[in-house]
Amino acid sequence: MHALGIEGTAHTVGIGIVDDACRILANVYDMVKPEKGGIHPREAANHHAEMVVPLIRKAVDVAGLDLSDVDLVAFSQGPGLGPCLRTVATAARALSLALEVPILGVNHCVAHLEIGRGVTAAKDPVLLYVSGGNTQVIAFARGRYRVFGETLDIGVGNLLDKFAREAGLPFPGGPILEKLAREGRTLVPLPYSVKGMDVAFSGMLTAALTFRKQGTSMEDLAFSIQEVAFAMLTEVTERAMAHLDNPEILLGGGVARNKRLQEMVGRMAADRGAKMFVPPGDLCIDNGAMIAWTGLEMHRGGVRASLADTVVDQRYRTDEVPVSWR
Ligand code: AMP
Ligand code: MG
Repeated sequence: MHALGIEGTAHTVGIGIVDDACRILANVYDMVKPEKGGIHPREAANHHAEMVVPLIRKAVDVAGLDLSDVDLVAFSQGPGLGPCLRTVATAARALSLALEVPILGVNHCVAHLEIGRGVTAAKDPVLLYVSGGNTQVIAFARGRYRVFGETLDIGVGNLLDKFAREAGLPFPGGPILEKLAREGRTLVPLPYSVKGMDVAFSGMLTAALTFRKQGTSMEDLAFSIQEVAFAMLTEVTERAMAHLDNPEILLGGGVARNKRLQEMVGRMAADRGAKMFVPPGDLCIDNGAMIAWTGLEMHRGGVRASLADTVVDQRYRTDEVPVSWR
């Protein structure tokens, strides 16, 4: 069976094609890069509308398949930006109708976890999902993926991107700050906001911008933001692993590509005799392959949808999905 997945919750529109064994036959994408300011939902949606058909063609090409070889169309149903979600849902409906194959809407956060289980040896991990818009600690319990901790305000990637943007750096800021952080030497005191199992980052953003105005170097600030933000994430992740008695930690989301985050979580895991899993970078960021794979798993688990079930949900929660395929 071949599943084609369309991702388009935010800045990236991506098409992935996978088979039953979670072989990634194609995973192509295009990201909006605003010249100035943040991502405008309508502009991102227009970008996705322009790119989605050429990307579908490209994915089929890369996979060495014909469109008629596609047996299932899956798409990111939420959470995300409304106009972007509606654009990819429309594309998915049209493709499913044209090919006369089933369609399934996939929860984006669940897909980040499922692709990690698909391509690594992780079986039942705690997932630290760290991206632009989302930051959650997720694990499977009694038929659902449950959120054990999350950000109370902005995603950790958004913290990095916003700080970089205010400092005049292009989007996405995370990878640029990672490089700058390597040259940082002095840890400046940024607020460490962990509330129970939850984290908050907007206070850190304000404090870092104030330090910047006072002349602290970008290197020291990038270093300090990473040290403090990633320590907060490592703390709540460790607490989830301890309470759940779970010896596996899986990273997902664009920020999971960060080597310093991997080092800190990896160290914590090693200290408690646990194992860390990190999918390849192209499967960490928003991508179509994770949507295709999750759709395929859902289909195998008996999930079916009519067109009426494909309405998008901007606030689609991770724990709303009945996980029938595990
Ligand atoms: P996603 O929303 O999952 O596609 O991830 C995009 C986010 O990941 C953006 O906020 C990026 O700044 C961030 N990101 C990508 N690579 C890195 C990196 N190496 N270090 C930190 N953040 C990163
Ligand atoms: Mg994501």
